[in-house]
Amino acid sequence: MIPLVKTYIAPREEMMPAIENILYSGYIAIGDAVKSFENDLAAYLDNPNVIALNSGTGALHIALELIGVGAGDEVISTPMTSEATNTTIAITGAKVVWADVDPRTGLLDPDSVESKITEKTKAIMLVHYAGMVCDMDRFNALSKKYNIPIIEDAAHAFGAKYMGKRIGSNSPYTCFSFQAIKHMTTVDGGAISFPDDSQMDEALRLGWFGLSKKVSRLDNDVHRAGYKYRMNNVNATIGSVQMKHMDEVLDTYISNGKYYDEALKSISGVTLVPYYDHTEPSYWLYTLRVENRDDFCKIMEENGITASPLHHRNDTHSVFSYAKCPLPNMDDWYSHFVHIPCGWWVTKEDRERIVDVVKKGW
Ligand SMILES: *Cc1c(COP(=O)(O)O)cnc(C)c1O
Repeated sequence: MIPLVKTYIAPREEMMPAIENILYSGYIAIGDAVKSFENDLAAYLDNPNVIALNSGTGALHIALELIGVGAGDEVISTPMTSEATNTTIAITGAKVVWADVDPRTGLLDPDSVESKITEKTKAIMLVHYAGMVCDMDRFNALSKKYNIPIIEDAAHAFGAKYMGKRIGSNSPYTCFSFQAIKHMTTVDGGAISFPDDSQMDEALRLGWFGLSKKVSRLDNDVHRAGYKYRMNNVNATIGSVQMKHMDEVLDTYISNGKYYDEALKSISGVTLVPYYDHTEPSYWLYTLRVENRDDFCKIMEENGITASPLHHRNDTHSVFSYAKCPLPNMDDWYSHFVHIPCGWWVTKEDRERIVDVVKKGW
């Protein structure tokens, strides 16, 4: 079976000595290896303002806390995502307000988001679902018009681009995940990046109990309670080894995705997803719309190929029952979209066979 997701780990000969070295160095907690991984990320994202964390969930939580989101506030978000996007909003005490998606892409629709803005709206949470990038031209304009900050949940979008530049310095907050099945894993991990350095100090404190690492422990004053969200040297060491292979790994996702964009055109029962202006996806999952999805998935499975919608729409969870509202485009999208394998493990022969199976029909 060709899976939809698969963990990439750099070659043993490189990874194991690095892990052994850090494990027995005496310095496994946060230290130089974390700094060095942050430098790798900064170079990759072309942005020095990056903090390595122990999860993408922590990154989202820090972003919400930096904005000051709390009880009585509203955050506009999408149900088309992994639960972490919305459970982090819930734990701040704020209300999730669902906006509808663009039925062609499954990504948040700027017009629907605009219609949901109220005086209580504290943030707009955008998810670059499956590695496709939201309509940032429109969202940047909205954010400016209403003076509401955007958080980009880029857990699926490492290496995706907006305006020719990798996602990570466009909005006030960009959150990445390095969990096991994402484009890049550090086993568990995450990062938050900012367009400038103005929030770095406060974010660092929020990630470390509220303490500042710039002052000695005895001279420290916690003015606001923080969390323990920073990365450790072991995960960071793994990350730095992984980073050496990311160009090659991401190139495979992207070239397979571009291959499907061409090869699956004009097949009856298949509608491809258009990408917004100035955006370039990093194809964490290849996403398309199909008629008779259950039959499609069955035929794929019979041919040894996993095809599935993978995510569970978040507005059906009872913790969000207060937020229930009609989302007709989401209903339409949710009954038609599907993912097919596209990542680093999918060979040229695999992708050709996948296209042949789709072409034969279901
Ligand atoms: C994986 C994921 C997260 C959470 O990341 P963790 O590193 O697992 O905490 C957040 N948002 C989305 C969309 C994700 O897929």
